[in-house]
Amino acid sequence: MTVTATGAPAASDIILSARDLVKSYGKTTALRGVSVDIRRGEILAIMGPSGSGKSTLLHALAGIELPDSGTVTYFGSAPADAEGQPRELTTLSDNDRTRLRREDFGFVFQFSQLVPELTALDNIAVPLLLGGTKKRAAYATAYRWLERVGLADHAKALPGEMSGGEAQRIAIARALCPHPSILFADEPTGSLDSLNSEYVMSGLVHLAREHAMTVVLVTHEPTIAAYADREIIVRDGILEA
Ligand code: ADP
Repeated sequence: MTVTATGAPAASDIILSARDLVKSYGKTTALRGVSVDIRRGEILAIMGPSGSGKSTLLHALAGIELPDSGTVTYFGSAPADAEGQPRELTTLSDNDRTRLRREDFGFVFQFSQLVPELTALDNIAVPLLLGGTKKRAAYATAYRWLERVGLADHAKALPGEMSGGEAQRIAIARALCPHPSILFADEPTGSLDSLNSEYVMSGLVHLAREHAMTVVLVTHEPTIAAYADREIIVRDGILEA
């Protein structure tokens, strides 16, 4: 990482920058002015009590939901991004924002949301096939990711035949195999017991570091946040100093 004279990260090290995010749902104000910079390659944990605004912040950072005000700027998959220009998520058209999310971002949620009718291998291959990768190459890549999450022997298993931890590892393989520049994970181990949580998190962190991906992780569990490089805490819609 480049460090400026002030000790702050250089601008080129920032991959995503949010400024003054405000978001309300009716009378509930979920975010009251949140600003955060996310550095390339870091694993950032967003912590805080239930209902404090963590998921809303993750959704705003990932362009899933638009804030009422404030900005989210994405600086691209590399410091010298091919398109060159930072993109302001809140001013992109819905189509452009959807395409950016699909091409550059990966997602893992609390429940794996695998397609129940498809095998583990098919589930991993789907995003590659949708992204235009040819069938043979997509399945070869999907199989490598199945191996990386230690489930090569589950290639033909349906989600209903797997444990929660196994399904979550498939979901992680599915999210990581298109090489997103940022992985957004919302309580990725929230449905698992502590042993499976440790296993899933250590795998996720290991793979993200190996592939130089940035991870933004929502959790209320200190043991899960311990895997991150840095923590921010949201309380009542603002970041704790
Ligand atoms: P956390 O992830 O920390 O549990 P959330 O970001 O999910 O918190 O929620 C923050 C606040 O916003 C809560 O009061 C929640 O009830 C409210 N909220 C979140 N999403 C919605 C929604 N879609 N509709 C109405 N209220 C919502």
